[in-house]
Amino acid sequence: PRVRHLAEHVRLALERGPAHVLREVTDSGLVGRGGAAFPTGRKWQAVAQAPVRPKYLVCNADESEPGTFKDRVLMEEDPFAVVEAMTIAGLAVGAEQGFLYIRGEYPLALARLGNAVEVARARGFLGENVLGRDVSGSGARFDIELRRGAGAYICGEETALFASLEGFRGEPRAKPPFPVEVGLFGRPTVVNNVETLVNVLPILNEGVAKYRSLGTPGSPGTRLFCVSGRVAHPGLYELPFGVKLSELLALAGAKKVQAVLLGGAAGSFVTASELELPLTFEDTRQAGATLGSGVVLVLDDTDALGPLLARIARFFRDESCGQCVPCRVGTVRQEELVQRLTRGKCHGSAGQERALLGELGQVMRDASICGLGQTASTAIESAVAKLGAFQEAGK
Ligand code: SF4
Repeated sequence: PRVRHLAEHVRLALERGPAHVLREVTDSGLVGRGGAAFPTGRKWQAVAQAPVRPKYLVCNADESEPGTFKDRVLMEEDPFAVVEAMTIAGLAVGAEQGFLYIRGEYPLALARLGNAVEVARARGFLGENVLGRDVSGSGARFDIELRRGAGAYICGEETALFASLEGFRGEPRAKPPFPVEVGLFGRPTVVNNVETLVNVLPILNEGVAKYRSLGTPGSPGTRLFCVSGRVAHPGLYELPFGVKLSELLALAGAKKVQAVLLGGAAGSFVTASELELPLTFEDTRQAGATLGSGVVLVLDDTDALGPLLARIARFFRDESCGQCVPCRVGTVRQEELVQRLTRGKCHGSAGQERALLGELGQVMRDASICGLGQTASTAIESAVAKLGAFQEAGK
């Protein structure tokens, strides 16, 4: 049945044509689920209109944000949906080759996707003539290559991912130029993560009106939330955008909530008094938070903040690619500061160390090349500002 399902969506997209698919995705208001929250339709339109050939489609499955596991579940549970969504995207933007860059730590997802790609190719859903369509002028040629990452968080950053796919060290580059103009191998490239691409299926199948009937005007559709931490039922929850954080926590069985880390290590904390926050791009932005990659990590009143913040600081120190000074040195200094504050071994007063932490965060935000350095201090700074972390050294 999965293979039949594959045929139905791709056939639908081919019958309606690329212009229709592009219009539907644009009108649906689909917003990228990877963290940057960019409108998918605009990205697709830009690549479709680019006169340069070849063009590429990249599915970013290097899901490495701590606490995130939604793309793994999608790939393991419905690999054909991923193949199908990539095919539809590739045909819509005129890309003849797609790459799926998967996190090296996802062997089951890789095996299932590998099988799905093989089956799809054998049945004529991938290759020279997708579903038997004439290649000449129809653009009905598309294939997928799977590439496995080697365990670097930074390769989830789109330009580092391109470098890795091209056979170089996974290091980001400054933007602009953006991938829609200069992407993989210097060609116009659409990069979407797994959850974003899979959303294209209900949009095509059920129509824009139905898709937009869920969620809010600024955040249409549903969202996958990766709930972990102090909850009775951790796991993946799919809910319409606009659901309140308190409602999600009630479903997951959270009690005595001290704080919630929204968006992962690069996200920020929400306090127990902010749990009525509607989970949308616009509301979280207004609240100074982010949905990021959908992480909802719950802390209760037994959790000590210091060790968690020290773990986050260590993570960024380890994962910095080392290319630019503000991040390479800043993440090391940040970890040292957090360790000193956690252990109560400050240089001067705790207030001076907190001020230094704030200054360091500002420098990393302003001067780092990529999002890793720019967000490496966000969670720590939000814990200091909102949760009173390190008000006294050692706490
Ligand atoms: Fe590398 Fe960090 Fe600079 Fe990004 S900000 S390029 S991860 S050193």
